[in-house]
Amino acid sequence: MSLGELAVFSGSFIILLFWLGQSLWVYLDARNRNERFALGWAILALFSVPVSLIVYILITRGREEKCKACGSLLERGLTICTNCGADVGKICGSCGGIMKESWNYCPKCKNKYQDN
Ligand SMILES: [Zn+2]
Ligand SMILES: [Zn+2]
Repeated sequence: MSLGELAVFSGSFIILLFWLGQSLWVYLDARNRNERFALGWAILALFSVPVSLIVYILITRGREEKCKACGSLLERGLTICTNCGADVGKICGSCGGIMKESWNYCPKCKNKYQDN
């Protein structure tokens, strides 16, 4: 094997490792987040690198928000921080839906939020 062949060989090996690695990372990350289609994401990542990886990161990261008190990343739809227990949302008085602190109207039942 010449030096040039060796370079091509190790180069494609690194690309293969990266390719499999990102798919595995997507799978483990999705499983960590209790994503329903963890395996589906992984397969998608395998076939459409790097588009699926970017889409995956945008979608999963877009569903998170930061706790105002401790700064940890939280899944959307929570009313308390799972790390420090601070309130991060409020409950709609008429339908019980979870609302963001900044919302005045409930998107589920369209009622105005009333502070009790
Ligand atoms: Zn917190
Ligand atoms: Zn409501």
